[in-house]
Amino acid sequence: MAAEPTPSSVLSASPSSEPTSCASCAKPMSGKFVRALGTIFHLDCFTCPDCDVVVADKFFAVDGPDGPGRQIPLCERDYFQRLNLLCANPTCGMPVRTSYISACNKNYHINHFTCSLCPTLFGPNDSYYEHEGEVYCRAHYVEHCATRCAECGDAIMAQYIEVNRNENSDEFWHPECWTNRRNLNNQAPIAPMRPRL
Ligand SMILES: [Zn+2]
Ligand SMILES: [Zn+2]
Ligand SMILES: [Zn+2]
Ligand SMILES: [Zn+2]
Ligand SMILES: [Zn+2]
Repeated sequence: MAAEPTPSSVLSASPSSEPTSCASCAKPMSGKFVRALGTIFHLDCFTCPDCDVVVADKFFAVDGPDGPGRQIPLCERDYFQRLNLLCANPTCGMPVRTSYISACNKNYHINHFTCSLCPTLFGPNDSYYEHEGEVYCRAHYVEHCATRCAECGDAIMAQYIEVNRNENSDEFWHPECWTNRRNLNNQAPIAPMRPRL
């Protein structure tokens, strides 16, 4: 969204002793222009390359694709987007600036770190569950993601026993289900217990 440019950054007449062509389109200056990044641009040419919005009122200078010598302006949103500093909460998407929570290579406002499927908010000491890059509350993790025990069919939330009966089918068991079955059959375990999560 383009806000109205402020008078301090936009003049309405061409300067006399400065570049006479736009640093972006190289056409002669006329009408409103922006003096920025050590040169001048048509107002309409001074756009964020990621979203094509005119950013004269507020921008962040970053090195352009041609290297450090040629800077380009980014809008606030795309500046933080490039830094991966937009809140990953689907209802927010605003820049995170000071303290934030990082999980699954995403960042969240402290008060926006929620399950990706419901508004359950996680505090600093709460446990959450990760699955394929998404964050879930316990209930949604169980519903959508959890590995099921081959014996009882319930979700496996902590430790499990992995059983490789043949190359094509791994089975996962609750340790207690495995122990019960072993005691029933009087068999030794055929796989080590591995911690999970
Ligand atoms: Zn131009
Ligand atoms: Zn942008
Ligand atoms: Zn947020
Ligand atoms: Zn949830
Ligand atoms: Zn079980």
